[in-house]
Amino acid sequence: MRKTYQYKCKKCGYEKEFFVGSGFFTDDWKTIYELKEKLANEIFSGKYGEYLKKIAEVDIDALHFHCSTELFQCLNCHEFIVMNDKEIIIQKNNDYKITIDFKKECPYCHSSNIEKSHPFVTICPKCKEISAELTEISRWD
Ligand SMILES: [Zn+2]
Ligand SMILES: [Zn+2]
Repeated sequence: MRKTYQYKCKKCGYEKEFFVGSGFFTDDWKTIYELKEKLANEIFSGKYGEYLKKIAEVDIDALHFHCSTELFQCLNCHEFIVMNDKEIIIQKNNDYKITIDFKKECPYCHSSNIEKSHPFVTICPKCKEISAELTEISRWD
C-alpha cells in the first residue's frame, strides 16, 4: 500500500509531499532491494537462528520479505524523513514470522530521537512553529 502525505505550514508556507509505503515500485526501491539482500545474507549467516537458516538453504523463495517506508519526524531538528519502518520476514506457510525494527537516525542532524508522523499538527521544520499540518492526500494499493 502506498500513501501520499502533504505537510503544509500555515505560518511560513512550507509545503512538501512525501510518498511512503511498501512494494517494489516505490521511489526508494533500490533501498528495499538492498535491504532484501542484506537480510538474506544475515539469514544465511545464522543471525536469526538455525531454523530460518535451514529454510533459506532449502528454498530461499519460501521466505517472503516485506519492507516498508513510513514518514517520520526528527524531534531534534524537526525535519521530515521518509525511511524504512521495519522489515518483516514471513515464511510461505505463515508459521514463521520475524519483525525487526531498524535503528533510526536522522540524516540531517544524526539524532536518534525520531517519531513516526501521524496526521496532526506538528512543529514546522522551517519556522519551528507548531503550525505544520499533515494531510493524507492519496492512498492506493
Ligand atoms: Zn513554518
Ligand atoms: Zn534531525
